Amino acid sequence: MTMEAIRCRDFVERVTEYMEEAQPPEGRAAMEAHLAECEACTRYLAQMGQTVAWVGRLPLPKVEVAAREALARRLRGR
Ligand SMILES: [Zn+2]
Repeated sequence: MTMEAIRCRDFVERVTEYMEEAQPPEGRAAMEAHLAECEACTRYLAQMGQTVAWVGRLPLPKVEVAAREALARRLRGR
């Protein structure tokens, strides 16, 4: 079995696809092979995962609060 070896730069470029599971199986296998031997990219992936989980949860309430405050300001102004 021949597998395309990837470097850190490739990993970083494809990390979003990897997390969205938008890759063909051989692409995933290459990513996982790289992860197995590269601590920096393992950390990078963990960090990206945290960021995505964080970004997915937090901004919406923030936007809601901002919208509510803007509405309250507008109502007070009348
Ligand atoms: Zn790497």
